[in-house]
Amino acid sequence: MVKQTIQIFARVKPTVRKQQQGIYSVDEDEKLTPSLEIILPRDLADGFVNNKRESYRFKFQRIFDQDAKQETIFENIAKPVAESVLAGYNGTIFAYGQTGSGKTFTITGGAERYSDRGIIPRTLSYIFEQLQKDSSKIYTTRISYLEIYNECGYDLLDPRHEASSLEDLPKVTVLEDPDQNIHLKNLSLHQATTEEEALNLLFLGDTNRMIAETPMNQASTRSHCIFTIHLSSKEPGSATVRHAKLHLVDLAGSERVAKTGVGGQLLTEAKYINLSLHYLEQVIIALSEKHRSHIPYRNSMMTSVLRDSLGGNCMTTMIATLSLEKRNIDESISTCRFAQRVALIKNEAVLNEEIDPRLMIIRLQKEIQELKDELAIVTGEQRTEELTEAEFLQLEKRITSFLEDQDPESKLEVGADMRKIHHCFHYLKKLLNDKKIHGTSIASSEIKDQNSQEPLKEEEYKKLRDTLQQRDNEINILVNMLKKEKKKAQDALHFSSMDRSELRCSQSSPFPPGNPEGPRMLPPSAPTQAPDSSTSQYRSSLLHGKTGMREEMSLGRQEAFEIFKRDHADSVTIEDNKQILKRRFSEAKALGESINEARSKIGRLKEEITQRHVQQVALGISENTPVPLTPDPLEEKLRSQLEEEKRRYKAMFTHLKALKVEIEHLQLLMDKAKVKLQKEFEAWWAEEATSLQVNSPAVNSLNHMKPFPQTPESQHERSQLLSNKSSGDWKVPDQGPQVVSCSDVYARKILPSPGPLLHSQEQSSPSTPLEDRIPERPVSSVPLTGDSRTDSDILAFIKARQSILQRTGFQ
Ligand code: ADP
Ligand code: MG
Repeated sequence: MVKQTIQIFARVKPTVRKQQQGIYSVDEDEKLTPSLEIILPRDLADGFVNNKRESYRFKFQRIFDQDAKQETIFENIAKPVAESVLAGYNGTIFAYGQTGSGKTFTITGGAERYSDRGIIPRTLSYIFEQLQKDSSKIYTTRISYLEIYNECGYDLLDPRHEASSLEDLPKVTVLEDPDQNIHLKNLSLHQATTEEEALNLLFLGDTNRMIAETPMNQASTRSHCIFTIHLSSKEPGSATVRHAKLHLVDLAGSERVAKTGVGGQLLTEAKYINLSLHYLEQVIIALSEKHRSHIPYRNSMMTSVLRDSLGGNCMTTMIATLSLEKRNIDESISTCRFAQRVALIKNEAVLNEEIDPRLMIIRLQKEIQELKDELAIVTGEQRTEELTEAEFLQLEKRITSFLEDQDPESKLEVGADMRKIHHCFHYLKKLLNDKKIHGTSIASSEIKDQNSQEPLKEEEYKKLRDTLQQRDNEINILVNMLKKEKKKAQDALHFSSMDRSELRCSQSSPFPPGNPEGPRMLPPSAPTQAPDSSTSQYRSSLLHGKTGMREEMSLGRQEAFEIFKRDHADSVTIEDNKQILKRRFSEAKALGESINEARSKIGRLKEEITQRHVQQVALGISENTPVPLTPDPLEEKLRSQLEEEKRRYKAMFTHLKALKVEIEHLQLLMDKAKVKLQKEFEAWWAEEATSLQVNSPAVNSLNHMKPFPQTPESQHERSQLLSNKSSGDWKVPDQGPQVVSCSDVYARKILPSPGPLLHSQEQSSPSTPLEDRIPERPVSSVPLTGDSRTDSDILAFIKARQSILQRTGFQ
């Protein structure tokens, strides 16, 4: 058992403005425990805290100032926890702080650079690296990803995400067994056999979370995310299994609303926006106070899920993320105060070991067999599963003579064989029952009679046994068939995933598909068990589903999307990452080639050494001289060359492995960025459409089936709309032929045909000459539909066109 208080660390986010650094100071020199001093600026102190303290000092295990790298955070905070998880203890790391203070950056990582990857990807990488090194145990790694929003639990890895929205999925609920262990219903566990698979699950969950988020549901600030690595290990042949869980928790923003905000009450009266953080604080207060018997874990889902991490069987670490700018000073002080309380909580981590019943059965079966063998040696008789026919007959004869024997001292001797003893009892019971049924005493003559009937019963008995044997055989065959079917299905899954990855290779990999040396030389990823629910396949289909929306877009919308994309800030990142990815691919390709070269060189050197050896021996034989004791210098040289080449090969191989992880990570970052962009475009598009519906007089008139009321503005808009279409074959008699400008051509590309809108007009005012209003071509080519969605789409197109033209400087 390891007793330990919760470790607390502070991380200060880089400030945008340098001059604000005077707000705090980090004192690393204090004996062993460094401290963070937050200095209240004069104006704030005057305004709010009024003659109160002007600086606050908080102690932490360590304080990571603005320049701390992600690597340092991992090495100092997460690695020790990951190590204890590998040793079989539960671990938790949670980030606490206001929105924007760097919780997600610390736990998951930044969305742009590979070097910004946070604790989760680095921990996964570290754990899988250690598992690969340790061949003394068999490990199983599974992943779950839970989001808690508004006291409801959602499974971020639920494969049904693609089809339904978060709210429609079954909620994750907390169940408690009689031993007060917590179980989470509807939370899926996904086996990950490699770092790559685990990383895919992380990105899949993050993407699902992002997609579910709307401006109304600010999931990223209001929800808690718990990424859990479940690790089981056992030594080969042992029935003891160790289970350890590592929770990596990104909490909701800890910002509070000030209730009063005057008279120095700001720091005490403020209330959390998030209710479960309030309950978390209650639990922390209860735990940090001595002599409290009741800890209110059950008040919220989050405290129930993290029950073991808080005052239980777990090694827990908290990272207080701080954004130390003037306007955040009160929130930063709250965060530090919370951390000081957390630091008082004592946990007791124990090794979670249990006996696997299946393994126990196997062990016992083995023991039985060994005992049987020993018995056979002692008795000199090979013991079969059942008695033979002859043995049965012999026993029954003995029973009969025992019963017939009038001597009260007579004994029934069958030897120290439980099978025989049992049979005797059965037989005696049977005789007794028969006697009861017939209501007559068992005379020896009757026993003899029965004995004479025995052959018949024997026959029946034999028949039944044969049937039983037959059934047994049938069952065995069926079980084997089932196993084969299952294996086939798994193989198919495996192959299909291989196919996919090969496809991906053929599309984007630096290793040509025909070159078997390429991907196969990468670290062995062949899973010992088929990956659960084919996660990577699911990820790619999901991402494709989300990014593939464009395929269904109209041309105009696609065009708008292209512009939106080009102007979006993220496109720089995507482009940068694309470039880096390209470079990494060519690096990987070059490395792959060098590895192949090194391999063939190693082969050649080995060949040369063998040849040289053979030559030396042959020379020795032909000259009849013994093989010289001193080593052959040429052979020595070849050997040292070989060693050198092998070292080079190994170094390149390790580098290629790292490159592979980086490439995968970058691809996932880009996938995620694409989904985000698409989502933002959809939101912008919808917003444009709504604002148009609210503001545009055209809409009001549309509702009355009059798309172009004769107001000056709408007339202007209409003429503008029509003028964009007028290149001679679109008639606008009112205005006469228009000159096609650059913007016309451009606008035509993105402007949809205004068919339904004009069609409704046609119906509403049949007396108006058609040419007056309708361009000829669109009317004939557009289906006559009154779908309101199409109408609003068209309005959105018009608005979008205007906004795009403004953005692109055409208007
Ligand atoms: P939170 O999850 O606490 O709301 P984020 O992690 O999303 O905050 O951080 C807000 C912004 O600040 C993000 O754009 C993030 O990239 C950036 N950021 C946070 N911490 C750091 C850091 N240590 N170094 C660089 N950028 C950071
Ligand atoms: Mg966040």
